[in-house]
Amino acid sequence: EDRLVAPAPQGDDFGEVSLRPTSLDDFVGQRPVCENLKIFIQAARARAEAMDHTLFYGPPGLGKTTLAQIVARELGVGFRATSGPVIAKAGDLAAILTNLQPRDVLFIDEIHRLNPVVEEILYPAMEDFQLDLIIGEGPAARSVRIDLPPFTLVGATTRSGLITTPLRERFGIPLRMMFYSPEELIGIIKRGARLLDVEMTEDGAMEIARRARGTPRVAGRLLRRVRDFAGVAENTLVDETVADGALNRLEVDKAGLDGMDRRYLICIAENYGGGPVGVETLAAALSEQRDTIEEVIEPYLIQQGFLLRTPRGRALAPGAYGHLGLNFPASGAQ
Ligand code: ADP
Repeated sequence: EDRLVAPAPQGDDFGEVSLRPTSLDDFVGQRPVCENLKIFIQAARARAEAMDHTLFYGPPGLGKTTLAQIVARELGVGFRATSGPVIAKAGDLAAILTNLQPRDVLFIDEIHRLNPVVEEILYPAMEDFQLDLIIGEGPAARSVRIDLPPFTLVGATTRSGLITTPLRERFGIPLRMMFYSPEELIGIIKRGARLLDVEMTEDGAMEIARRARGTPRVAGRLLRRVRDFAGVAENTLVDETVADGALNRLEVDKAGLDGMDRRYLICIAENYGGGPVGVETLAAALSEQRDTIEEVIEPYLIQQGFLLRTPRGRALAPGAYGHLGLNFPASGAQ
């Protein structure tokens, strides 16, 4: 997937200059999450204990990985990162856990995608810092118990509903990440511009922020692309006009929608009379995965008031017609 506005990481997100904040003070936005973390970090440091297991949930690109790294750094402990689908077997998890130093942070991204067998092993590891493994097969099989160093598991998931109840209950600190406000994104973009050595006006930053879908990863990517355009056009100062021109050429509209979003909305408007229409039907009509539609396309459209999720399926909200320049149907929708 190579959408400019996709919230998942892409190859060219990583230029020579990293935009990742490295301390809580440097981290813009998510105030409730940061205030909570500050307290738990202080408490863990004061007791010289591992911090309680922490679960971040929220859409991709909002800073879950970044915060996990910051937590480790501010605790003064090591950081180890992996992801649910990568840990295929019990032995893979055992290898990771037995190699941790006391109080380390282990970050598991997409923790809802853990293999159930692996997840079972994680329960006693989280609760009692013990690993119960079966070694060998058949009559020779025996179970061994291994003591682990105390550690902090930081899990990340895009939707809390995807994670099993026993796993969720083992996290002492559940934290919900929210989309960023335009003001917060302006702060992030101005910081990024400084790091990338781009001269930018306040309204230039505002123009990018408005189209960044509440998501720092998208903001960073749009900033890098606007910088490329400005560089080629020899505009050393990125103001509203320069940013607007670049983003229009990149087909990211004023509300941050790209071609894929517009295709999705227009499909509902033109093929299904504005809805309601089932997500499976839409997935087939658009040749997209249902997961992609539910996790990548819809959350932002719903948040922007372009889309309604009803018990009978998806329906366009009135605002979508105006935005797309379509006539509101006389009857039909809702
Ligand atoms: P997630 O793990 O939620 O998908 P990441 O932590 O990988 O998101 O963050 C995505 C990108 O956005 C990173 O490159 C990071 O630099 C940037 N980023 C995230 N949150 C912030 C923030 N609050 N301030 C500045 N940059 C941020």
